[in-house]
Amino acid sequence: MLHQVLNAVIKLTSHNDLEALDNCLVEIIAELVPTEKVELIHFYFDNERKTIANTLQIFFSPNKDTHTCGFLKGSDISVAILGCVTANFPVLAPLSDNQWHFILPIKTNNKVEGCISLTSTIDLNSHREVIESLVNIYANHLTIINESERDELTDLLNRKSFNKRISRLLDVQREEQNRRSREKIPVNRRKVDSEEKSAWLAIIDIDHFKLVNDNFGHIYGDEVLLLLSHKMKENFRHSDLPFRFGGEEFVIVLEPIAAKNAAMVMERFRAEIEQFEFPRVGKITVSIGYSKLGTDDFPPHVKEQADKALYHAKENGRNKVFKYESLIESGALNATNNDSAIELF
Ligand code: GH3
Ligand code: MG
Ligand code: MG
Repeated sequence: MLHQVLNAVIKLTSHNDLEALDNCLVEIIAELVPTEKVELIHFYFDNERKTIANTLQIFFSPNKDTHTCGFLKGSDISVAILGCVTANFPVLAPLSDNQWHFILPIKTNNKVEGCISLTSTIDLNSHREVIESLVNIYANHLTIINESERDELTDLLNRKSFNKRISRLLDVQREEQNRRSREKIPVNRRKVDSEEKSAWLAIIDIDHFKLVNDNFGHIYGDEVLLLLSHKMKENFRHSDLPFRFGGEEFVIVLEPIAAKNAAMVMERFRAEIEQFEFPRVGKITVSIGYSKLGTDDFPPHVKEQADKALYHAKENGRNKVFKYESLIESGALNATNNDSAIELF
């Protein structure tokens, strides 16, 4: 057993990729402990409202040998899981049909960010310590990976993590689409049809930021970057992915929403920055370019399109929001011969 556990630790700590790490934890627990089902659930836990949002589930069922990953709705989260997370305490309890249920919160930097849930026909008490230790090792390793993916100044995701994060987001969306078509979930409201949802990728760039540094110095420049990142966290949903991409360039990936809502969210953010009084520096504006990020799209290509829309905003007065697809439609941008614009920016 010791040898098996040590091998599991070696396997677990060999991953520096979140998805592989998650899958590995679920698989090694399924290997070491006799279980019917192992679930790893990531979520954003709102401590004040005691609610869970933005869930991601990795599921392993040795009997069926299935491995699924997808979103859970709030209503799919069991009362037992919510109770365990709220109390921040493991739950090990017999279920009515001769099964045991063990739920363990996952904490990084003292914050609950998910849980692991096991069901088994045997009393899991004797395996409890091994499971807890493996989950602790996993959580430590997760903390290190999380930190390597964050920008030091703003704590937003960094450029390095962009591809991995986006491809995971798109994987989950594809999985969700497949699930919907498998389960033949009807799209029964016309309104939904006409408001087809998709993810959106936006680039937010501070206007004339060089002047902030020149006039007030780098410390105040950094302060503006920090405040802008706070505004991003406030303005966008927990399920949206915010990045600091470069110096004063930010990227936000909005989780699937209708086009008109994406436009509203972008404009709201632009207006929010325009009206905010930055300490000492005063008024700052941002230009935003964005583009649709479909599940079959290549993210760097979509980023390029958003860049072109941003460049258009810079060329046309700044403090504006432009959508790539609308610029193509109106003829303001040409889909093929505008490639050189990206180099200028
Ligand atoms: P534009 O409206 O065209 O975007 O003009 P701009 O001045 O914002 O753009 P430009 O690309 O010419 O300058 C970006 C400036 O951002 C230059 C650099 O001094 C500053 N910058 C980049 N990274 C940091 C940082 O980490 N801290 C601070 N304080 N400034 C930074
Ligand atoms: Mg700028
Ligand atoms: Mg810039």
